[in-house]
Amino acid sequence: MKTILHLDMDAYFASVEQRDQPIYRGRPLMVCHTDSVEGYNGVVAAASYEARPYGVRSGMSVLEAKRLCPKGIYVPGNYHKYLHNTKEILKICQEFTDEIEVYSIDEMWLDITRTKQFFGDPGHLAHLLQERIRQDIGLSSSIGVGPNKLVAKMAGELHKPSGITVIRSDDLPGIFAPLPVGDLFGVGRQTKKHLALIGVATIGDLAEVPGDYLKEKFGVVGLYLKDAALGRNDSVLASGRSGVSNLVKSFGHSAALGGGEADIDKLCQILLGLCDGVTRRMRRDKYAGRTVVIRLRLARLFGFTRSRTVMRALELTEHVYPLARELLLVEREVLRKYPATLVGISVTNLAHGWRQLSMEDLNDDRQVRAAAVVDQIKDKYGSSIITRASLLSWKRRYHAAPVYGSSGVTG
Ligand SMILES: [Mg+2]
Repeated sequence: MKTILHLDMDAYFASVEQRDQPIYRGRPLMVCHTDSVEGYNGVVAAASYEARPYGVRSGMSVLEAKRLCPKGIYVPGNYHKYLHNTKEILKICQEFTDEIEVYSIDEMWLDITRTKQFFGDPGHLAHLLQERIRQDIGLSSSIGVGPNKLVAKMAGELHKPSGITVIRSDDLPGIFAPLPVGDLFGVGRQTKKHLALIGVATIGDLAEVPGDYLKEKFGVVGLYLKDAALGRNDSVLASGRSGVSNLVKSFGHSAALGGGEADIDKLCQILLGLCDGVTRRMRRDKYAGRTVVIRLRLARLFGFTRSRTVMRALELTEHVYPLARELLLVEREVLRKYPATLVGISVTNLAHGWRQLSMEDLNDDRQVRAAAVVDQIKDKYGSSIITRASLLSWKRRYHAAPVYGSSGVTG
C-alpha cells in the first residue's frame, strides 16, 4: 500500500502578492490573467480568501469578478515570481522524498511510502512540511494524505486553508460516500448532469452503480468513475525530469474569425482543426498534458477562457477535441447572442516524455500509431497535404496561429 501526499498552496498567486505587499493583506485581492487590470478582459487567476465571501473564484472572468466585488484590488500576475516560489517549495519537498510529481504551479504529489518512517508517521511529516513552507517561504498550504493520488488530492480539499487531512483506506467509504458527486475529481458539469438523471447525487450513490452500466454510458471514463467513487486509483506519479521547468508552458493554437462566427457546428470544426495542430506539435516535442483550455473572444464583449483538467495524459486530437468541444458547447447560448471573433485551444499541465500507462492507453494504441503516420506524412509533404474529411466540407477562411504562454494557469 502506498502513501501519497498532495500539497496545494492556499490561494497561491494572491498569497504571494499579499506576502510581498503588506497593503494587500486582509483585503480582497484578485490576481488576473489579463492585458490590463483597468478593463474587464481576462480571467481571475487567483482570489485571496478575503474575496471568497463575495463569490469570486479563480477561473471567473474579470468582468464577473468586478460585478461581485467592485471594491476589490485587481492586479496582474507575475508568473516568473510564482514560478520562482514554486521552485523553492519543490526544494523543501525534496527533503521529504525524491518521488515528486509537479501537477500544476501550486500543486504537487509526493510519494512518501518509503520515507515516512523517518518522520514518525504521515501526519507528522505533513505537519513538518507545512511548517517549513510557512517559515521559509511565508505561505500557507493545505495537505491531504491517502493511499493514492486521487484520495490524497480529495483529502486536501476537505480542510482549507492550512489543513492537514490524513485518510486511511479503512476510513475511506465513510468520508467520501456522503460528499456530492461533483466533488469527485474528474466529474465535470456534463458528467454530473448525466449522473443526476440516473439518480446519482453523492459519491456513495455512484459507488453503487454497476460498473458495466457506467462503462456503457461513459466509455472508459465510466470505469474511472466507478473506481474513483470507491477511492481506488492506480495512476502512478509522473516524477522525474519533468516538472517545474515545464510549468508555464502550454501548446496552443487560435484562430481569428474576422467579423464573428455564431454557427456552433462551424466553431466545432475550427476547434477540431486547431486541436490537430496543437496535438501534432505536442507529439513532435514529446509532451502530453492534462488540462484543456478553450479561449473565446466575443464580438463587442470580452474574452474568457474555460478549462477542464483530467487525470489522464492527453496527446491526441481524439483526447483533446472531445473535452474542448464539451467546453465550447456549454457556451452555446452566449455564442448565439455574441458571435466569436476568436477561438483558441491550448493544452497545459504538461509532462515531458511521460505517458501514463493505463488500460486507456492500450485502447489508444491504434490511434497513436495512426497519428504517428499522419505526422510523418505531414513532416514530409507539408501540413496541408492531409486533412480530416470532416474539415473538407468547410472552406478555411480563418487564420490559425500558434499561441505561446501561460494561458489558463490558475493558482
Ligand atoms: Mg491552490
